[in-house]
Amino acid sequence: MRCDDCNATIETDEMREHLGRQLCEDCYMVTLSPMKTCDPWAVHSAKTYEKHAGEERFLTPLQQAILKALKDEGPLEPTALQDKLDGDHPLEDLERAFSALRHMEKVRGEKRGQRILWRLW
Ligand SMILES: [Zn+2]
Repeated sequence: MRCDDCNATIETDEMREHLGRQLCEDCYMVTLSPMKTCDPWAVHSAKTYEKHAGEERFLTPLQQAILKALKDEGPLEPTALQDKLDGDHPLEDLERAFSALRHMEKVRGEKRGQRILWRLW
């Protein structure tokens, strides 16, 4: 038989079943790996945190606006936050500002079902 994921030939006794799929040992391990379910914000933060640790930072007007909006409105999806802010900020700018604020532990991402909400720390 063949692995449903990587198509490798597997012996029947090496076959692992996961959510109705027949997987080889390797794919089964990857499927179960906690990395798969890791919060992407946390991973991103862990990678870049050291780089910014101890660095003196001042809030940009956009960062201040994000903090104020989250304080007034509560947790928001990035696009909803975008609507609340004055001016026409591209989502990439918001994400960059959010990322910087996250390093300062002022905001964080929160997963609710399929949605990611931004909220105060
Ligand atoms: Zn496989």
